Parts: sequence; structure tokens; C-alpha cells
Amino acid sequence: MLSTMQDDQLSLAHLLRHGVRMHGDSEVATWTGSGSRKTTFDRIGRRSAQLAHALRELGVTADQRVGTFMWNNAEHLECYLTIPAMGAVLHTLNIRLFPEQLVFVVNDAQDHVVVVDGSLLPLFARQLPEMTTVRHVIVTGGAAGALDAPSGVTVHSYDELLDGRPETFEWPEIEERSAAAMCYTSGTTGDPKGVVYSHRSIWLHSMQVCMTDSMRLTDADKALVIVPMFHAMSWGMPYAAFMVGTSMVLPDRFLQPGPIAEILAEEKPTFAGAVPTIWQGLLQHLDANPQDISHLREVVVGGSAAPPAMMHAFEERYDVPVLHAWGMTETSPLGSVARPPKAAKGEEAWRYRYTQGRFPASVRARLIDDNGDEVPWDGESVGELEVKGPWITGSYYGGADPDKFHDGWLRTGDVGKITPNGYLTLTDRAKDVIKSGGEWISSVDLENAVMAHPAVAEAAVIGVPDEKWDERPLVAVVVREGEQVTAEELRTFLADKVAKWQLPEHWTFVDEVPKTSVGKFDKKRLRAAHAEGKLDIAHF
Ligand code: ADP
Repeated sequence: MLSTMQDDQLSLAHLLRHGVRMHGDSEVATWTGSGSRKTTFDRIGRRSAQLAHALRELGVTADQRVGTFMWNNAEHLECYLTIPAMGAVLHTLNIRLFPEQLVFVVNDAQDHVVVVDGSLLPLFARQLPEMTTVRHVIVTGGAAGALDAPSGVTVHSYDELLDGRPETFEWPEIEERSAAAMCYTSGTTGDPKGVVYSHRSIWLHSMQVCMTDSMRLTDADKALVIVPMFHAMSWGMPYAAFMVGTSMVLPDRFLQPGPIAEILAEEKPTFAGAVPTIWQGLLQHLDANPQDISHLREVVVGGSAAPPAMMHAFEERYDVPVLHAWGMTETSPLGSVARPPKAAKGEEAWRYRYTQGRFPASVRARLIDDNGDEVPWDGESVGELEVKGPWITGSYYGGADPDKFHDGWLRTGDVGKITPNGYLTLTDRAKDVIKSGGEWISSVDLENAVMAHPAVAEAAVIGVPDEKWDERPLVAVVVREGEQVTAEELRTFLADKVAKWQLPEHWTFVDEVPKTSVGKFDKKRLRAAHAEGKLDIAHF
């Protein structure tokens, strides 16, 4: 028997209309380096209509891809809303990709138009001649004149293009399963792969982001969206914010700890999201330049494991709870969120909060061992995490890398265990696990243990070849400014925190851990530095 329910389509055109009408006075503040420029959802709605008219005129009439090469700012948000709402496909370009990767993703997605941030124009322009499908470049910030376009490409100024156009637009009816946006993985191994989100997947994901079990966004919130809009859709925060009327603070290109601290002081957001390296940097800055940040009711951390020492520091020294979450570009990205179960108190609650979290109803999970068999959720058995759900990708764009899919499930490449009540602990990424004498050592556990030392700012652990054991851990340590610590002292510090056979015997001190385009530890580069003999290593 069929239901009697209406088959109303979940569409971002409706999301845009809804946000503008219900929450027209919610604010969007873009940081300028000294103060914010402000706009409202209502004004964003009118500008979106103008942008839609302009894009139609440039030939965006169906599901053409429109790329964005931009920081987090009001114009990027206008693109986020307009492009899918008019039935086209938003393609967020990672501004930190290597040049050949950038050319690859633009050509692979066949971008027709690209909106480029004025401040990023030189970076983009160098690669433009190799982008074979791009016909129009729209430049924000009044810098259009600076671009010498190759033949066949027309350059426009964003503001001039919008000026004087009608402030309403007849947003089309959109089939909910059609493509709304695409984002490529950051390509730490091989070419980046395209993930294509649908209107339906973004809608359902936005609802999950707002749920009390997840980020709890409401119209009373002001969210500082640090995680880039070109990385995993900014964790879905912009769409979720439009759904419920959360005001947003967008940091533009000001992502260093100093400017972030200034933004916090001036805008006093109630919520924020960023990868651990951003929070670590901010913590060091705040420790040296104390400031009240208790206006943050909570901050969400994901993208790589949140070090427990950092979670404690924010909560105990700054009165800001840190919410740990796990996800991937392939999972929209919200996969699991670490809110402890109701009965857990004190230390037990903390243990749950260190985990990558519990899966929401729409995300199904299983762990698969080396033989392809499912392992139990007993909190001990380890396997590769596979997930399935309405906002989890079922393939890559163009059918790339089919091995990442297994009977309709996504193979995450993450290795971990799950408790009987559904809390995931990732022990590593499959390629980062250290295989020592037939046993696995978690690089993440070692990193967290070393980073708990007060003199350590950052620590990254890689496996290095070992004749006897196959691989052994090498710890690369960044010492906090003004502090001193030796490898010997750190080994002693670890002695009662990790099993004896896991205690690393190779240590190196570095000025900085190399980072990927999205701010994660770049272990590939660390391994290369080691292989080329560039690291000064103390052995025990
Ligand atoms: P990339 O794969 O290039 O790093 P993504 O941002 O999509 O780009 O990364 C997803 C991966 O990041 C996950 O598969 C996982 O390895 C890691 N990750 C994300 N969140 C966490 C977390 N909370 N703890 C540990 N690892 C995480």
C-alpha cells in the first residue's frame, strides 16, 4: 500500500526562500581584517536573485557547473545558495590544491563559470589557460581589471554583474535527487575524486546538523564558520544555518590565531567549527594573550582526531566545551558526533567525548576485517569502517576508484572499533597504522599521548621501516614557544601511558608539522622527509 503523503521535493530553492522569509534579519558578518562588513539573510536573498539572473545570461541554464575559488565570505554564501537553487551545480574549488590538481578538478567537472575571490586572482589566473571548459570568470572585490583572460574567456566584475538586476527570481522546481553541489576529496593520495551531493542529501544532512544530538544550531546562535567552504561543504554549516536562521561569522582570509582571536572578541559567536590544528594554534595564542571566549557555548572539532589534552584545555581554562565529530567529504560530511549517553558522568562522560562519536539514525556503520568479514561492536575488535546512508556517496563522479565501494557501502579507509552502544573510536587511517611485529600501533593514540605533555604544541607519528619489527613509530615534535623538553623526558612521560612495546624509540624535533591543503598533518610529506634523510633523529 502506498502512503497518502505528498511527494514534495526537498530542494535548496525552497531552503533559500525559507531562510530569507523566516529569518530575514539573521546576520552574516564577513571579517575584513579590522571589523566586519555585515549583511542579512534578506539582503543575501535579493543578491542571490541578482546573481541567478546574471548566471542565466552567461549561459547557466541547466546543470552547468559553476566553480567557486573563494574564502569564506558573504559572496561565497550567495554562490552556495544561488547556484543549486537555480538548478545548476555548485563546485567548490579547494584554493590550496596543487596547480595540476586544480586544473584536473575544473576540467573533470567541466566548470563553465568560475567565481574567483579578488585576493586569489593571481593564484587562479596562472592555471586558467589550461582550464578547457571555463568560459566566464567572475571576480569579487573589484579586482576584475587585473585579469588578462585567455581567448574564449570573458572576465566580469561580480558587483557590476549583479548591479541593477531584479531582486526576485523565479526559482525553478527541482527534482530532489538531482545534483546540487560537488566537492573533490583533498587528494592526499592520487588525483582528487569528485563527490556529488543532491538537493535531498543536503536537505537531510542540514536537518541532522541542527539536531540536538549534533551541533544544536538554532536562530539564537551565531556560528563562526572557520572550516573552509571549499572543504567538505564547510561541514554543512551554511545550509544548516539557512534552515534555522543561525547568524554566521565568516573569517574570509584571516585564519591565523591572532585574527581569529580578534574575530571572537568583536563578534562574540556562540558556536564555531574548525579542524584541530586551528584550535591548537588558537589555544597557544590565548595562553599567551588571555581573552574571555566563554560566549562560545560549544565548538565542534573534526577532520582529524581532537587531542584530549586540547579538549580539556578549552573546557577547563576557557569554559568552552569541545564537541568531537567524525566525517569525510564523502559523508557530506557529518558521520558521527561524540555526545555522551545520558547516564555517563565525570570521567566516563569524558571517555565517550574522546571518541569519534555515535552514529545518527541515518548513518549505518559496520567494521570489516582483513578477510572481508564483519567484526562485532564489542569496543575491542578492530576493522575498516564502512558506512551507508542518504548523505553518504555511493560512488565517485565519473566512476573513479570503484574499489572504495563494497556492496553499496562506502569503505572509509578509517580503521577503528565500536562499542556495543555505537561509539566509534578510530585508531588510524588504514595507511597511517604502524605495523610493528604483527601488531598494530595507533599513530593517533601516540600523538594524543605526546600532545598531553605541557611543553608540546604538536606531535605527529609515522611508521618508519625497521628490520626486526617491520615498522616502528617515529615521533615528530613541535615544542611550544618558550618551553624546552628532550626526547628522553617525553619517553619517560609516555612510559605509564602506552604499552611498553609501543614506546617510540625514534624522535625528531621540527619547527612545524607539514600540513595538507585542509590543515591536517601531512604524513606523506613527513615520510618523504624521513626517507630523504632530512630529519635529525634521536634514537633510543
Ligand atoms: P581527506 O581525505 O583528503 O583528508 P576529508 O576531509 O574528507 O579529506 O577527510 C576525511 C578523513 O579525515 C576521514 O576519513 C578520517 O580519516 C579523518 N577524520 C575526520 N574526522 C576525524 C576525527 N574526528 N578523528 C579522526 N580522524 C578524522
